Amino acid sequence: MNRTMLNGDLRLSDVNKEVTLVGWVSKRRNLGSLVFIDLRDYSGIVQLVFDETMEEKVRDVRNEFVLEVKGIVHERKDKNNKIKTGEIEVKCFEVKIINKAKTTPLLIQDDTDALEDTRLKYRYLDLRRDVLQQNIRLRHKVCMVVRNYLSEQGFVEIETPILCKSTPEGARDYLVPSRIFKGNFYALPQSPQIYKQLCMVGGFDRYFQIARCFRDEDLRADRQPEFTQIDIEMSFVEENDVWSMVESLMFKVFKEIKNVDLDSFVRIPYVECMRRFGSDKPDLRFGMELNEISDIFSNTEFTVFKNILEKNGKINCIVVKNSADKFSRKDLDKLQEFVKIYNAKALSYLKMENEILTGSIAKVISDNEKEQLINKLQLENNDLVLIVADEGYISNISLGALRNKLGHELNLIDKNKYAFLWVTDFPMFEYSKEEDRYVAAHHPFTSVKPEDVDRLFSDPANVYSRAYDLVLNGYELLSGSIRIHDQQMQAKVFEAIGLSMEEAKAKFGFFLEAFSYGTPPHGGVGIGLERLIMILCDTDNIRDVVAFPKTASASDLMSEAPNKVDEKQLNELGIKLKD
Ligand code: ASP
Repeated sequence: MNRTMLNGDLRLSDVNKEVTLVGWVSKRRNLGSLVFIDLRDYSGIVQLVFDETMEEKVRDVRNEFVLEVKGIVHERKDKNNKIKTGEIEVKCFEVKIINKAKTTPLLIQDDTDALEDTRLKYRYLDLRRDVLQQNIRLRHKVCMVVRNYLSEQGFVEIETPILCKSTPEGARDYLVPSRIFKGNFYALPQSPQIYKQLCMVGGFDRYFQIARCFRDEDLRADRQPEFTQIDIEMSFVEENDVWSMVESLMFKVFKEIKNVDLDSFVRIPYVECMRRFGSDKPDLRFGMELNEISDIFSNTEFTVFKNILEKNGKINCIVVKNSADKFSRKDLDKLQEFVKIYNAKALSYLKMENEILTGSIAKVISDNEKEQLINKLQLENNDLVLIVADEGYISNISLGALRNKLGHELNLIDKNKYAFLWVTDFPMFEYSKEEDRYVAAHHPFTSVKPEDVDRLFSDPANVYSRAYDLVLNGYELLSGSIRIHDQQMQAKVFEAIGLSMEEAKAKFGFFLEAFSYGTPPHGGVGIGLERLIMILCDTDNIRDVVAFPKTASASDLMSEAPNKVDEKQLNELGIKLKD
């Protein structure tokens, strides 16, 4: 086509130029004998004017028709400073209707009121909206920055298989039946974990891939069944090497995309993180850390606290500064309900009012205990103390969640800040009640802390690993680890999670075998690309950063996948459906 420039690029300096423009009709208005049309392409919109001689040619033109026009750029009398092209308009002397459009089921504008289901069913129309255009383009830019930067740093982009053998990453696999080997299945990769490690065995030294991962999980708002990881693996490295590489990559991305110079990244071991924030992904844009106050109540007469401490429980609190007057009885009852979601039995509170402590437990704790609280917590007038006495873990996580909730609700968060945190030294195992055994907390290829190896079997709950997460503003942005590179050690860890040698061989024989031919020490990360883009685009909805997303029940409303398939296809696969 003869397009001479993009619509959104037209400026006052183009006045008197003859231009040929193409695009979609975003709005039309008639003003007496004049017709005004806003013509849109991805760069923006421009106002076209058709006089009485042209009116007939555009009489049938409706929204979303595709036009090609020729015209002369003029300065506008009534300027519109809300749009980039608001100082000019194009007086058209030729128009070609390239294509017509039915009335669209959703308005193509940023503040569309269409239901999300409608937007997903007609995603190609939704994608015409500027917000989505910007998000998807930003995603592309981030990928370019990542590709270029990692390539400069000596990383090789390597594609790994999509049809592969099931590898345990903790989630359910998507399975693909094999036609040739009836009754056998491929799994779609939950991540390229095994392959990237084999790239290290294969001598590539530094690998990356912008890799699609598939996990058949019940979806939460911020999850998709298929998602993308910036997957990285490096040979001959320790934690610090991986962390500095990721930090420099993040510095680059935030500089190029947001023109922001990031602050240096904080590092906190998991155990300390849980103690201080009650979360392994705390938002460090505000304080309000947890305080353990068990010691103050070691001789308490207050039976509830006494019983909890006798059962090895913990008493923790958070202090909401200068806010006691903001919380009515009713508000505090609501917070009580909130901590119950996290299995806490109760939330107690104290308010500092006129130098004395009042509140739900003020009458049942001693003056001395109050005095100690005031000193330890450095309480000032109008401070509110929120206390959960319970099993240690419950006390921590319920207050951690409350801290997060109040941080948002009380506007304690500096929205312009990017607070990065490395959470390090995760537990190696977690106990799965469902399976009645220990499972790998990260994945079973993660190195055990050398000082904990002896306790692999005797005390698995207290074995820590060389796994780490990077947290940004309260979101887990990536996880990764230094891997096991020793065959015997790998076999031991399989055993510790209850995989017998035979099972391990059947599942990972090829992997264990590879380790017997000289495997370099290695480690890496998988960065959640969508999460990163969501933060950069300032949205909480993962579907805003995926071109063709699925719903929370993992269906594609546009193409109507998943769908039934022909009997013939099933026969070829040797599959008979249950009634
Ligand atoms: N494969 C891991 C994950 O998806 C990331 C890693 O360990 O590199 O969480």
